[in-house]
Amino acid sequence: MTEGQTNLLHYYASRSYWLESSMDNLSPRSRLTDEINVDVAILGAGYTGLWTAYYLLKQNSSLKIVIMDKHIVGFGASGRNAGWCSPKFSITPERAIERFGLETAKELQLTMYDAVNEVERVINHEKMDADWNKAGFLKVALRENMLSQLETEMSTFRKLGLEEFYQLLNENQTKERMMANNLKGGILTKVSAVLHPGKLVRNLARILEQRGVTLYEQTEVIDFMEGTSNAFLIS
Ligand SMILES: Cc1cc2nc3c(=O)[nH]c(=O)nc-3n(C[C@H](O)[C@H](O)[C@H](O)COP(=O)(O)OP(=O)(O)OC[C@H]3O[C@@H](n4cnc5c(N)ncnc54)[C@H](O)[C@@H]3O)c2cc1C
Repeated sequence: MTEGQTNLLHYYASRSYWLESSMDNLSPRSRLTDEINVDVAILGAGYTGLWTAYYLLKQNSSLKIVIMDKHIVGFGASGRNAGWCSPKFSITPERAIERFGLETAKELQLTMYDAVNEVERVINHEKMDADWNKAGFLKVALRENMLSQLETEMSTFRKLGLEEFYQLLNENQTKERMMANNLKGGILTKVSAVLHPGKLVRNLARILEQRGVTLYEQTEVIDFMEGTSNAFLIS
């Protein structure tokens, strides 16, 4: 390995604990230097790009797909997040009901559970090492007056017909699950997991390579043209 390659490796490992502890070799793959013809060219080797390639191949395994990344697989948010695979949407269920109505809010929430379960299904199906642990998400009350907030949350889930996905916990039940001072109660979201984001993103890339996808790293896309035949320009 040249000095430049060693420096790059240290650089990428130092950017993210998850990449560093992913047990993967972070040496960049080859750059794209030639003109190529492919069916699908994807910009960015994070979850968006990698899952897109994964499901495209599921539909048509003969597709010729390349993924280009300016840095390495998982360099962006996919290799540096908090590791939650949770069904929480960016707005609360109450706000979703206000904005979209009961039925759509329910569908939205059901889709979120499906997404978590789908990640689990793929991890199991592909025998992927990702430190998957679907132990649920626990929100706790540290003061008596917070208990009513948890009850209100639970009543919203009841309104949506989704109470089976949650459990209100009393003080003792909460203490059985975690140790902290002042625990008064909690609400458990059952379909929620934690995982190792670095292992997920790096192993997903490896699986795609095994299926014929080519990953180019250190390859910056500087422009692209939309149309029936898309073209990317790289630096
Ligand atoms: C601090 C933090 C915590 C988070 N926690 C969670 C969590 O717990 N659970 C959860 O579900 N989500 C979480 N997220 C969100 C989640 O990480 C992102 O939604 C997800 O990783 C986005 O994936 P992506 O592929 O779209 O983007 P990225 O992972 O950022 O991938 C984009 C890739 O494109 C490459 N790129 C950019 N420009 C170019 C170019 N011009 N040419 C070539 N390549 C280029 C980058 O190098 C990068 O690798 C968190 C995000 C952050 C920042």
